[in-house]
Amino acid sequence: MTAAELLRALRQAFGDLGTWWPAESPFEVAVGALLVQAVTWRQAAQAVKALAVRGLLQPHALAAARHEDVASAIRPALFHQQKARYLIRFAQFTERDLAGDLRSLCRYPLAEQESMLLALPGVGRETAAAIMVYALGEAAAVVDAYAMRILPRVGALAPRPPRSAAGAAMAGAIAGRPERARLLHAGIVELGRLHCRPEPLCASCPLEAFCPKLLGYPVDGRSDRPASDAGRAAAGREAGNARGGRLAAAQGGRREGSRPVGQGRGGGLGQPQRQGKRPGRGHRGA
Ligand code: SF4
Repeated sequence: MTAAELLRALRQAFGDLGTWWPAESPFEVAVGALLVQAVTWRQAAQAVKALAVRGLLQPHALAAARHEDVASAIRPALFHQQKARYLIRFAQFTERDLAGDLRSLCRYPLAEQESMLLALPGVGRETAAAIMVYALGEAAAVVDAYAMRILPRVGALAPRPPRSAAGAAMAGAIAGRPERARLLHAGIVELGRLHCRPEPLCASCPLEAFCPKLLGYPVDGRSDRPASDAGRAAAGREAGNARGGRLAAAQGGRREGSRPVGQGRGGGLGQPQRQGKRPGRGHRGA
């Protein structure tokens, strides 16, 4: 299965995931992308809400905010001292270099957008790509831990591919289409979270009929063989539950593939909640 075939299968399996990362502004998306590093989306959403209550979800306000005020607001997202520094610096970049409008980054070529984002503290490749895809509407490939696990399993890449190969395969499937970039990333996360886990639940997987299941390579230090019969039965029950409200199941669960914030070039991203699925938050959030 190629990356393009995977994209088609994900569209069939999960439909339109276009509102998968709801937020009121591109800047709020970026704030959420920074806050969610190494924590759950529930924690990040609490921090985003706290910033909103304090009027700090605008670049000019956040850029001028006191460090201790921001750190206090985002305490639910952990690493709050470090993340406060990242957020204030990101806001200052938006305010000073982009005249307060994050979307004006779009006037630069994709590679330049990425370079500018990567130059900021706390922004790694995954965070930069997520900002480009979900805040700016660009056709970038978000290569996360889910993609690195799933692409080889479905046959789109050789085992243990370099990150660059995953990015190239995804970019080929995306083919410059922003909606494909969103669907590919969101679909891969959904698949990886619900079915193609480190211990894959192939029996319940919507791709089961098409996937070559190229397993046998340890993933995340665990077996990637299909689960036992008992595990499959449990998977079936879980999948049934998931279809009725699959994103709710993730609320509060530590995100897979996350890295401690600030480790290397930025942390990883998890799974935002689809609009209307987040309890108590409505549409606001990362
Ligand atoms: S869970 Fe199994 S069938 Fe589904 S994508 Fe992963 S390896 Fe393929």
